[in-house]
Amino acid sequence: MKSVVIIGAGPAGIRAAQTLVAHGVRPILLDEAARGGGQIYRRQPVNFKRSAVKLYGFEARKANALHQTIDELREQLDYRPDTLVWNAEDGALDTLHEGRAARLEFSRVIVATGATDRVLPVPGWTLPGVYSLGAAQIALKFQGCAIGERVVFAGSGPLLYLVAYQYAKAGAKVVAVLDSSPFSAQARALPGLLSQPATLAKGIYYRSWLTAHGIPVHQGATLKHINGEQRVQSLNWSNSSGKHTLDCDAVAFAHGLRSETQLADLLGCAFAWNPLNRAWLPQRDSAGRSSVAEVYLAGDGAGITGADAAEIAGERAALALLEDNDYPIAPQRGVQLEQALGRIDTFRHGLERAFVFPENWATDTADDVMICRCEEVRAGDIREVVREGHWEINRVKAHCRVGMGRCQGRMCGAAAAEIIACESQRAVSDIGRLRAQAPIKPLPFGLEIEP
Ligand SMILES: Cc1cc2nc3c(=O)[nH]c(=O)nc-3n(C[C@H](O)[C@H](O)[C@H](O)COP(=O)(O)OP(=O)(O)OC[C@H]3O[C@@H](n4cnc5c(N)ncnc54)[C@H](O)[C@@H]3O)c2cc1C
Repeated sequence: MKSVVIIGAGPAGIRAAQTLVAHGVRPILLDEAARGGGQIYRRQPVNFKRSAVKLYGFEARKANALHQTIDELREQLDYRPDTLVWNAEDGALDTLHEGRAARLEFSRVIVATGATDRVLPVPGWTLPGVYSLGAAQIALKFQGCAIGERVVFAGSGPLLYLVAYQYAKAGAKVVAVLDSSPFSAQARALPGLLSQPATLAKGIYYRSWLTAHGIPVHQGATLKHINGEQRVQSLNWSNSSGKHTLDCDAVAFAHGLRSETQLADLLGCAFAWNPLNRAWLPQRDSAGRSSVAEVYLAGDGAGITGADAAEIAGERAALALLEDNDYPIAPQRGVQLEQALGRIDTFRHGLERAFVFPENWATDTADDVMICRCEEVRAGDIREVVREGHWEINRVKAHCRVGMGRCQGRMCGAAAAEIIACESQRAVSDIGRLRAQAPIKPLPFGLEIEP
């Protein structure tokens, strides 16, 4: 089989590569990061010496196993780190490596591009010192840096407690954790969460550790305003007992994750609305086959399911690819993997119930809040376009440039969709899907093109 490409060297991509290699295929593995591991098992630079336990805590064993896998596979695959895929078409990918653009033809591709934070802006979110939760974790995990000296963690989702815990454990001053989900939601989610007791126990541990170490954790808490001139100086938040202010010099916030779906879109995959993710996702069957022949999807890039599921889905998608190309595979293995994914799905439903989406965010967001920072489009600009009669998200984009800048809607798309839906009094699923455009990430001017 010629030119099988995997995009993404996270848990999904690495397990997919391992499975292909085990069946005699030599895939090309592309990743824009310098070292394989993906988000959860992101590796520090080679000259950094923190132990795996220090970096990954309870997940150190899994991180070591995944890193060992990619290190051992190095000679058996064509691994290309520092390689961004910025465009995809039928049978070809456009890449960027060390300032040089190249075109890579493929016959089969596994897209395993992971996720980024879902950002719901608040006044002041563009001030220096404000990060997404994932970005705050990257600073710590990759570079051993904290984002500030007095940090508040806000928003919702499993990363909220994990990153706050990691910061406090590393010696940073965590001023408070503001979880927008009420405690009652987490209590109601318990039956679903009990389907993965070990994972639930870790979550409870992080939260209890924070409280036991005197860090205030507030539930049902809404981040209202981040204040400062040159950088963050304080923030305002509210809960059922009133309005409050906290002094801090950095804020990390997000409301869960969103899948990186642009490449699947450019490859022509069909999408469907997914209420659980509150997002449009590329459709895949239980084995990871997309709607396009020879395009396979695995991991968080096709729906947020977490790292363990990503590893399983990576192997499953690779087996599907092999099966479709008449390679002999153990028939039972696919069934086992799909059953394991089904069990994780129950937990995933529990998580979404525990960390509820803040339904009133769009209503409460004032007109002057910046939604699209690349093009400087505010909530009021979007609402004005809606009032002119446009409600389909790509039309709204054409009229006010929301999602048209460097991030191509990766940061602002979810928030813009909520504002449009609220203003036009439609369900967020009814305002359409922001279509991907190449380049999906910024490219430098003066790009050298390989012949
Ligand atoms: C910043 C961040 C931190 C996280 N930390 C944790 C954590 O500590 N614990 C936890 O349980 N979960 C964490 N998660 C969730 C976690 O990412 C996933 O559950 C898990 O890593 C998913 O694995 P994956 O292989 O699907 O994707 P990822 O691990 O995200 O791997 C995807 C890979 O694809 C590469 N990629 C993406 N787009 C392109 C492109 N266009 N060109 C080339 N390469 C590309 C990325 O560089 C990345 O290495 C985090 C998520 C984020 C966004």
